[in-house]
Amino acid sequence: MSLRPPDPKTVRLAHRRLERRLGPLDPPLRRDPVEELVLTVLSQNTSDVNRDRAFAALRGRFPTWDALASADAPDVADAIRPGGLSQIKAPRILAILREIRDRDGSLDLVWMRDASDEDAAAYLVSLPGVGPKTAACVLAFSLERPVIPVDTHVFRVAGRLGWIPPEANADQAHELLAAVVPPKLRVSMHVGLIRLGREICKAGRPRCEDCPLNDLCPTAPTYMAGRADHA
Ligand code: SF4
Repeated sequence: MSLRPPDPKTVRLAHRRLERRLGPLDPPLRRDPVEELVLTVLSQNTSDVNRDRAFAALRGRFPTWDALASADAPDVADAIRPGGLSQIKAPRILAILREIRDRDGSLDLVWMRDASDEDAAAYLVSLPGVGPKTAACVLAFSLERPVIPVDTHVFRVAGRLGWIPPEANADQAHELLAAVVPPKLRVSMHVGLIRLGREICKAGRPRCEDCPLNDLCPTAPTYMAGRADHA
């Protein structure tokens, strides 16, 4: 597999092809930063449907962020049970909200809209349990900053495409991908790589013969040869 990062022309071409194949690569609805933080914790190891169910149940039971921050962990876990791992996610959510309230005096992060990318990112990763991926989701979807959140799909697909080296981990991939994807394309590239990962470049055996990027992908020949062998 080639370890050379792709040139900007190749990345732009890949983006155009993803858009042509998958349709508009629009990011999720713009959300309040606190909401995005809670949603990102709820999204861990579950489907979007179960995440949204858990979020709706949580908001139904605790209509304000203050009410949620003051709640007991077992009650929060009970509310978010549809999203799975509720015993882990409940204390995570509470720790984040309580830290924000302790530091800022309220659960309002609108100040971040005027903060620099660096200041906003530094604040987010300083919160308990918030790593580069969660911070990137808030920066991209709530604050419309040019970052590329790296979830499991983006990490797998970018690795197969040779856009990040095999030894990189998901946290390091944020900076590595930012170095090869132009700022204007980062958020939509995130959407495109996730959708490609869910629909075609799946974990396990990818469907390279049906992939719009197969002539740009150093992994494709291996899988396509494998298929031919089994044909
Ligand atoms: S060609 Fe295959 S391995 Fe490469 S991105 Fe497409 S599906 Fe994934």
